[in-house]
Amino acid sequence: ATLADSATIEIARLPHPAPTAVEAREALIADPGFGKVFTDHMIVVDYDEGTGWHNATLGPRGPIPLDPAASVLHYAQEIFEGMKAYRMADGSMGLFRADQNAQRFNASARRLAMPEVPEELFTAAVRQLVEADAEWFPPVAGGSLYIRPFMFATEPFLGVRPAKQYKFVVILSPAGNYFKSGAPAVSVWVSEYTRAAPGGTGAAKCGGNYAASLVPTGEAFAKGHDQVVFLDAAGNGWIEELGGMNLFFVFDDGSIITPPLTGTILPGITRDSLLTLARAEGLNIREEKYAIDQWQEDAKSGRLVETFACGTAAVVTPVGHVEGRKHDFTIGTGGPGQVTSMLRDKLVAIQRGSAPDPHGWVTKL
Ligand code: PMP
Repeated sequence: ATLADSATIEIARLPHPAPTAVEAREALIADPGFGKVFTDHMIVVDYDEGTGWHNATLGPRGPIPLDPAASVLHYAQEIFEGMKAYRMADGSMGLFRADQNAQRFNASARRLAMPEVPEELFTAAVRQLVEADAEWFPPVAGGSLYIRPFMFATEPFLGVRPAKQYKFVVILSPAGNYFKSGAPAVSVWVSEYTRAAPGGTGAAKCGGNYAASLVPTGEAFAKGHDQVVFLDAAGNGWIEELGGMNLFFVFDDGSIITPPLTGTILPGITRDSLLTLARAEGLNIREEKYAIDQWQEDAKSGRLVETFACGTAAVVTPVGHVEGRKHDFTIGTGGPGQVTSMLRDKLVAIQRGSAPDPHGWVTKL
């Protein structure tokens, strides 16, 4: 059946001949780390130009046959999302702003000349997979089921044009607490590589952006840092974001700024949620450009008191130290500041259902 124009999403259940034994599963999820353990099932949906989305299945997770000429392997037509199912205070599971992930996925699809996945199909696939593999939820404090929806071009064709065939796939990975003991401050390296140019794909969540970030990130690791900071590609020194997180800056007058969405940074859903929460708190928070030299000057003068990074994986993470070829400074006490901790706690409480959800962000499963 074609799903493209259908609001009733039917996902066929395939039998699983050899699900993981209970004991083996319990061993895997006892200390899952991040991105290493995968659940038993996956969702696969096919697309071709004539039929649209069709053949949606929820079946055993396993290899996907791919023609060696599949255009994703040559021209990288691939996009993905990263989201989590959380354990709520009442023991149920909840999805946080899944509609936003569906919408960002489709914005990425448009930028990469790929077909959009109907929002109902995206969210039905995520829900049904999480429900099917609910017993893989890790029994650890701060644990979650990390959800990875992705789409890639399968058509065997070597011409450079948008493919006519794709697969949309969803897999799950049980995840532990990103940081073993709360959220220590991270040290960041200011890269001379750039991540995204004006008019490029910086606002899309496409695999190619992350392939290009590996060398700069490797350089940061080699120099003893945890993350890389990217500046704007035009060489103006505007701070953009980390390799996988957005940045916020807190000043001594209580005001907060975060770089604006100019098309070269990923529109983070955590970023958007924190803007909303901070505004609801009556804080003076603005989307405003901020330059690396100013960041150093303000950290040294004490005008800047906190900096934090945010994203689905690590939620809210304080930045304690910054170094680059021309910069070297510490922020505040080098540990988590008051505003950082307050915003983190508010967000986590909503995500985990231990505080009211005034914005309707959580869908309980
Ligand atoms: N920037 C980049 C480059 C990212 O990969 C991510 C993670 N998706 C983020 C920011 C944070 O986005 P979100 O809050 O939606 O996880």
